[in-house]
Amino acid sequence: MVIVLLGPPGAGKGTQCKRIVDRFKLTHLSSGDILRSERTAGTELGKKAQSFMDAGKLVPDDLIIAMMSGAITKAKGNCVLDGFPRTVVQASELDRELERKGNSIDAIVNLVIDDSVVENRITGRRSCPACGAVYHLESLKPKVDGFCDKCKGQSLTQRVDDTPDVIRERLKTYHQQTSAVVGYYTGAGGEVLDVDADRAIDAVTAEIIKNLESLILAK
Ligand code: ADP
Ligand code: AMP
Repeated sequence: MVIVLLGPPGAGKGTQCKRIVDRFKLTHLSSGDILRSERTAGTELGKKAQSFMDAGKLVPDDLIIAMMSGAITKAKGNCVLDGFPRTVVQASELDRELERKGNSIDAIVNLVIDDSVVENRITGRRSCPACGAVYHLESLKPKVDGFCDKCKGQSLTQRVDDTPDVIRERLKTYHQQTSAVVGYYTGAGGEVLDVDADRAIDAVTAEIIKNLESLILAK
């Protein structure tokens, strides 16, 4: 089963994916998280991706497609895709790759939200380098300020690309290159579930899960 989560940076894709994978027993595949692990591990891919990520630009399609194709295979085709596809080329390659594997996309969720809201979400985002849990300075505070609830004693960190300048660039990139992916899917006759993401985390989750249950479990 393959679920795709679309939406601008800071829309809440990672936050919602963690809840979707719990409900449907799938693997969460975040292209951004995978790239950050590659960087931390100092791999060739991580080195090639670094300058694009730090500038808020997209990493070249060929690198991303190879990386995600490997990750989907490893997940045995049962996954929630977060941050991928981000271009129409990536979307059509994903279709081709899934078809080759006898698989296809079961549901596409698009988190809809204004740039003005996501700016605050991204600047306030803090995450745990040990377990990947994501918090927010105002909307999702840890129990002890600055420390992960699960990994006691682990300080939360801010992503290097979560600064106002890079956020502006990432939003520009989203509007110029990624928003067209929604049109790619609807143009191909696919059903894209638009969800208002400017609501409390639980309200957004409830709508997504309810819709996925009727869409997927009814199949
Ligand atoms: P994305 O994966 O789309 O970039 P995240 O899931 O990392 O976004 O969320 C960005 C930030 O916004 C995080 O700090 C997260 O805790 C917070 N957040 C996510 N969803 C909501 C929401 N519905 N309301 C308020 N804050 C949210
Ligand atoms: P994210 O964690 O989704 O906010 O992604 C962080 C950064 O990783 C982006 O700003 C891009 O530089 C890069 N990236 C993540 N996913 C992709 C993708 N599908 N295509 C190209 N670049 C990506």
